[in-house]
Amino acid sequence: MIVATAGHIDHGKSTLVRALSGVDTDKLPEEKARGISIDIGFAYWTPPSSNEIGFVDVPGHERFIRNMLAGVCAIDFALLVVAADDGVMPQTIEHLNILDLLGIKQGLVVLNKIDRVLPQRAQEVIQQTRHLLANTGLADIDIVPVSALTGQGVDTVRDVLTQKASEQKKEQQQGRLFRFAVDRSFTVAGNGTVVTGTIFNDQVKIGDRLTVTPNGLSVRVRGIQQNGRQVDTAQAGSRCALNIAGVTLEQCARGDWIVHPLLHQPTQRLDVKLRVLATEKHALKHWTPIHFHLGTAVSTGRIAIKRGETINPGERGFAQILLDKPLAALHNDRFIIRDQSAIRTLGGGHIIDPFTPIQKSRTIARQQQLIALDNVKPVNALAELVQCTPNGVDLNLMQRSLNFNEAYMNELIEQQQIETLGKEIKFGFSKFYLSNQKQKIFTTIEHFHAAKPQALGITIQSLHKQIDSRLSADIFFLLLKSLSEQGKLNLSATTAALPSHRATSNSIDEVMWQKLEPVIKLGGIKPPTVTELAETTKLKKALIEDLLHRKAKSGETFRINSDRFYARTTFAMFASLASELSKKNEDQQFTAAEFRDLSGLNRNIAIEVLEALDRLGVTQRLGNKRRVLKLLSTEPSQ
Ligand code: GDP
Ligand code: MG
Repeated sequence: MIVATAGHIDHGKSTLVRALSGVDTDKLPEEKARGISIDIGFAYWTPPSSNEIGFVDVPGHERFIRNMLAGVCAIDFALLVVAADDGVMPQTIEHLNILDLLGIKQGLVVLNKIDRVLPQRAQEVIQQTRHLLANTGLADIDIVPVSALTGQGVDTVRDVLTQKASEQKKEQQQGRLFRFAVDRSFTVAGNGTVVTGTIFNDQVKIGDRLTVTPNGLSVRVRGIQQNGRQVDTAQAGSRCALNIAGVTLEQCARGDWIVHPLLHQPTQRLDVKLRVLATEKHALKHWTPIHFHLGTAVSTGRIAIKRGETINPGERGFAQILLDKPLAALHNDRFIIRDQSAIRTLGGGHIIDPFTPIQKSRTIARQQQLIALDNVKPVNALAELVQCTPNGVDLNLMQRSLNFNEAYMNELIEQQQIETLGKEIKFGFSKFYLSNQKQKIFTTIEHFHAAKPQALGITIQSLHKQIDSRLSADIFFLLLKSLSEQGKLNLSATTAALPSHRATSNSIDEVMWQKLEPVIKLGGIKPPTVTELAETTKLKKALIEDLLHRKAKSGETFRINSDRFYARTTFAMFASLASELSKKNEDQQFTAAEFRDLSGLNRNIAIEVLEALDRLGVTQRLGNKRRVLKLLSTEPSQ
């Protein structure tokens, strides 16, 4: 169990930790000289009958809130120290607000310096404190009168902690990847870099290869220590020191995380749910500059709130955080925001989407996704997200964002009736939605076959149009591909057909043309030669020549020399280029060179194309120039 102190400066936090653990947490020379805590200090105590308790003693001074935040980011239990003589003071309030915003629900108020006051004053401060606790997640915690100096009441605190530590269930976090927030780093002669911090998820073993994030450097764990003892492994919810190889002191310090390599994805744009403290005087406005604290890290940045909206004191709302520098964050991580000059806590909340896409921030679909993601249970977040994302959820990204390991993610996909498409990037869909889409695909193709029995199949484009416009072309193609891999569809480069559809029932011409036309069209201004067509389509050259000549007669293709046929659409485009050129010139005529330059054809082919246009009556040659007589429609008239 990790326990942190909280409360105003000089109320006796460090003295209490010393009374409980025997350790003086004010170690820095400056702390000794000034008699105040500047940075967080650590102490351990193992009660006779329960697990070890780690104390994080935080500084109370308002200037060191940043250090306080690094200390309380992952605690289980808070000791809020209020001096009975001073009573509630500014940092009593601010620290309590921070604990509440971080979602800490277990704690004890230590009414300290009880030796200094009369019972009536003690009662006053108890009332004051109860009032303060009332609207927080710590409303029901006990208040114990203590004198850290004389020892009065310290045993009661010990008993409460012992009890809590033995009740502390190791949170059953299934299938997570390792995450560790660094709060200190130093070098040990002969051993290199050592970092201390709290394990947020999973466990660490000697020999593990991990990544420092946000800088992305790889490290190897050489040793692990817990409370001064060498251990082989350490678990989520505990503090430890890691001796790591691969980075210098400067490359890994407070604010960094050490994570499983799969979790490394620094971010600067996050969607959050935010609560503004009730004690704020004004509503939180769009584009307010802030300090953003998460884990032991801090970055400056801005708050983006939906156009025209604000978040009132005491209220919650969705917002986006735009950071000045990248940091690590995952779904449901708690954060605190402080004002631009870092003197006031404004509010805090939890992360909904750590990897906010740049576009589509304010669409209705995106709003639905944010509501789905705003779910304390990551499993439910995933299940609901899939329901409202017809175009598929990027499962690789979600696995990282929700911090699931591969095995657990696969288990959830199965359990939550999620169907996946794609190999490199896996997209997740609701099974029900996708089976509807598939059914629609089959019926549409069936209707097509019935209406056009000769056609090889329906073009993918027109099939897509008839299915669901919310599916992107890429995702739609993935769906067709998976159906074809399962033998439920026959897919060509441009068409889809049911396997039962007999291509042999088509005329031979039809079958050949459906293979040739897309290739010729694709060739654009440089269509393949007949020889090349024979190679790509595996059809006999003589048959191709014969068909293309007949198609040329009906105006479906145009031949410019014995070996090259153009699609009609390409020729229609040439005709409109010619018309464009003639309109530009005063005499309404143009030269072959002008046509060559505008069309991008080489000289010989440009001349051949123009001669073909002359033959078609589209252009007429007048000496060195040509004029345009008519345009060419993209469809041949019957
Ligand atoms: P912190 O800033 O909250 O960590 O406060 P410290 O633990 O450094 O204590 C501040 C001062 O209050 C020190 O001089 C302590 O000796 C004194 N002090 C702490 N607890 C008690 C107490 O219960 N009774 C009395 N009389 N003095 C105390
Ligand atoms: Mg102190």
